Amino acid sequence: MVARAARAADLADLDGAVSDCFACPRLVAWREEVARVKRAAFRDQDYWGRPVPGLGPPDARIAILGLAPAAHGGNRTGRIFTGDRSGDVLFAALHRAGLANQPTSVASDDGLTLRETRIFAAVRCAPPDNKPTPAERDTCAPWLHREVELIRPTLRVVVALGAFAWAAWWPVLRQVYGQRPPTPRPAFGHGAHWSGESVPDLLGCYHVSQQNTFTGRLTPAMLDDVFTRAKDLAGVD
Ligand code: SF4
Repeated sequence: MVARAARAADLADLDGAVSDCFACPRLVAWREEVARVKRAAFRDQDYWGRPVPGLGPPDARIAILGLAPAAHGGNRTGRIFTGDRSGDVLFAALHRAGLANQPTSVASDDGLTLRETRIFAAVRCAPPDNKPTPAERDTCAPWLHREVELIRPTLRVVVALGAFAWAAWWPVLRQVYGQRPPTPRPAFGHGAHWSGESVPDLLGCYHVSQQNTFTGRLTPAMLDDVFTRAKDLAGVD
């Protein structure tokens, strides 16, 4: 799989290869089971039931790194953060920031386009309880590393949604940028900011999960602040 990721010549190539990955038996079984059983509200829909590739232009200056696709969101629609409550919050914020052409993301053919922003997840298949194992995280890492490598020429800022994504970034420094990650690792927090030499800045943001947004732990204003900061750091108008 490492070799398959490394062979991807561009993002389209990578997206196709990711979508055809079967490397994690537990996640393959889960994504297919969810797609077969479905949620009652989506009974008449064909679920994607595969790994979910990244979304956004190849010359993005900002990357948003999530945890993994949602069982009835990305795993249903085939597009990251699409068709679930987390995506509702995220894309509304990206639209307010001028980074998305519309405030909603409901289906892969709904006309959504992103500006200067690429979104991807540390793990590309929906995991049970939204909890990939460390082994699954490590197995999936080559897809993330190749994706960052492909957008490296323009990438300036990475927004890590949650502690899992924050932790998934450090191996990228070694694998893609040939740099030793900082020791000790900077702690994740909402608003945390780490910068290094000749690598993208890293911003921490609470995950846009319902747990955080329904309880007010993460508000639209807090998201707006993060994306304003990301745009400033990336030099995006
Ligand atoms: S989680 Fe990643 S490595 Fe595992 S099957 Fe899905 S795409 Fe492949």
